[in-house]
Order: sequence, then structure tokens, then C-alpha cells
Amino acid sequence: MSWRGVIREYRAFMPEIKESAICTLNEGNTLLLEAEWLSRRIGNNLKIYLKFEGQNPTGSFKDRGMTMAISKAIEEGAKAVICASTGNTSAAAAAFSAVADLPCAVLIPQGKIAKGKLSQAIFYGAKVMQVQGNFDEALDVVREIGKNYPVTVVNSINPYRIPGQRSAAFEVIDQLGGLAPDYQCIPVGNAANIVSYWEGYQQYRAAGKFKNNLPKMLGFQAEGSAPIVQGHPIEKPETIATAIRIGNPASWQRAVQVVKESEGLFDTVTDQEILAAQKLIAHTQGIFCEPASAASVAGLVKKAKQGYFKQGASVVCILTGHGLKDPDSAITDMPDPYVIQPDKQAVLKILGLN
Ligand SMILES: *Cc1c(COP(=O)(O)O)cnc(C)c1O
Repeated sequence: MSWRGVIREYRAFMPEIKESAICTLNEGNTLLLEAEWLSRRIGNNLKIYLKFEGQNPTGSFKDRGMTMAISKAIEEGAKAVICASTGNTSAAAAAFSAVADLPCAVLIPQGKIAKGKLSQAIFYGAKVMQVQGNFDEALDVVREIGKNYPVTVVNSINPYRIPGQRSAAFEVIDQLGGLAPDYQCIPVGNAANIVSYWEGYQQYRAAGKFKNNLPKMLGFQAEGSAPIVQGHPIEKPETIATAIRIGNPASWQRAVQVVKESEGLFDTVTDQEILAAQKLIAHTQGIFCEPASAASVAGLVKKAKQGYFKQGASVVCILTGHGLKDPDSAITDMPDPYVIQPDKQAVLKILGLN
């Protein structure tokens, strides 16, 4: 059996690409779970669904855009691939370019790095270079190389990533049996994903794939990293959710438009709310997502408490990446393991069974 992936699955809705250039790792087709236990905990009679993008081959939704970006690089005859990233973009870029047999440069700026993501980039064989400078300086180097050499830039500025990422919206509609949800909650970093979903829903509706209303798009930023909510770039964004620690989002204006058109909103969630939501998702539904992903559910919890949703509404929350990507931040406020003697009584005592 050969891998299919989102380009072949949604060929009619993707930019044109020749079959021989398609580079796929069988991304997409991720679970849309009807989260019954979580819904009960949140109340308001909501019908909550979780789209678990951690099931993608490198553990985040970035694979959906990367299959398109790398396939185009192949079609265009690129000699290498480059990105500035400490995150899931670098993991996806490294994996797809390895399969495409293209050298991949990953420039990592100074700052905190999630070990899971960096280990992926290294293990897939990317040339990882630590830049003595900030993200913007690293991105400048990337852009300059992309402009003057046959090297494809696969950062958010790559025009093929959003079309690939629209596939997630198609899946939501298909998985709900040809119906759009009333609301969609999503974490927002560079804001490409919220734009991708919206464009995907619009594209699918125009093709007659569903007839009810487009969902209201609710975008959540971490409180210490909320340029869109605050209305200005954040010089030193801070949050435990590294995947959305972005001070000046690439798709800012477009995302503002999307939220307006959909009659949705942007709001913030605190790191504490993010970590609580991450735990809640694991404990109620058995899904371990990374902190940034949990911002969607943290936002849902916040808005439900405020009585924002209409009773009985359907809400899709996007869990953008896998929890094993960033184990360090997941356990920051967790207790250390118990230290015990090799003695059954000690175990029973901790279980409350003595
Ligand atoms: C990239 C990423 C985001 C943010 O998506 P944007 O398109 O930058 O808004 C959120 N969560 C995870 C896990 C990511 O990798």
C-alpha cells in the first residue's frame, strides 16, 4: 500500500501539482473525537469535538502545509530547503525534505527550545544551525538565501503551506457528515492556521460540500504573547506554550479579517489556564497534546464560563500538536515521582488501598 496524504485526498481543492512531485508521509486524516466526557465537564450542553493533529506523522498540523511546500520545491527543481524555526515547522521540514532527498537547513534563534522538536529536526538529518541572534535576524538570512539561490523557504511565508493546511477544514466537514460546527476554537501564533481553516471552510462551502453556516472562528493567544488581542507587536513574548510564542504574527491582518467575517473573536488565556486545560484533555479524553494546543480548550472553558456559547452548540477545538513534543513544559507544575522503598505497603498506601 502506498501513502495517500492530503494532496491526493483533496486534489480538486489543492494547487496544481504533478503526481511525480508529490512528497507525502500520509499526513492528515486525523481523529475528530466527539469529546463526551469533556463536554460534560464544561456544561452548557455543548457538543465538543477535538481534532487531534498530534496524529500527523511528525506530530503536528505543520505536516499538512509541508507536504505541499516540499512537493512544490521538488516540482520547481529546488536544490535545498531552509527555515528559521525552533518548533514544529523544523520537524516537519526535516522529515519531508529527508524523504524528498533535499538538504534541509534549520536556523534556530536563541531562546527556549522544546526538546522533542529539535530532536526530530536533528534525527531526520537537517543541518541545524544555532544563530547568535533573534528570530527576525535568522529569518532575514533565510529570506535572503531564498531570494538569491535555488533554495525553497518553508517558513510561514511559503505560499503553499496555507493551501495544504486547508485540508484540515475539509476533514472536519467530512467527519461531521457534511455539516460545519457552530464554533471553532484554535490557538493562534503566526495566525496561518486560523486563516487556513477559514479559507478551507469557504472553499468547501462554495463547492457545495455543506450548506449550513460557516463556523465562528475563535482564536486564542497566550496572555504574555497576545499581539493581536493587544493590538500591537510584543517585543518579548512570553508563554509556556512555545508554539504560539510569537510577537508579530505573519498573517496578522488576514486573521483579523477572518475573525471579523466569521463573527468570531480573539481572546487570551493564561499559562495557568493552558496547563489546566492540557491536563483536563488528558484526564477526560486520554489525549496528550502540547501546551500551545491546549490554548483552544482553555479558551473554550473561559468563554463557556462567560456564557458565550448558545446552549447545545457544536464546537470543534483544534489540538495542534502532540504532548510528547514538549515534555519539559508539560511537567513544570507537576509533582515529582514518589520515592518509595521496594515494598508493597508503600505502593498500596499511595493508592489509598491500605
Ligand atoms: C505552529 C503551531 C501553532 C500556531 O499556528 P499558527 O499558524 O502559527 O497560528 C499552534 N500549535 C502548534 C502545536 C504549532 O506547531
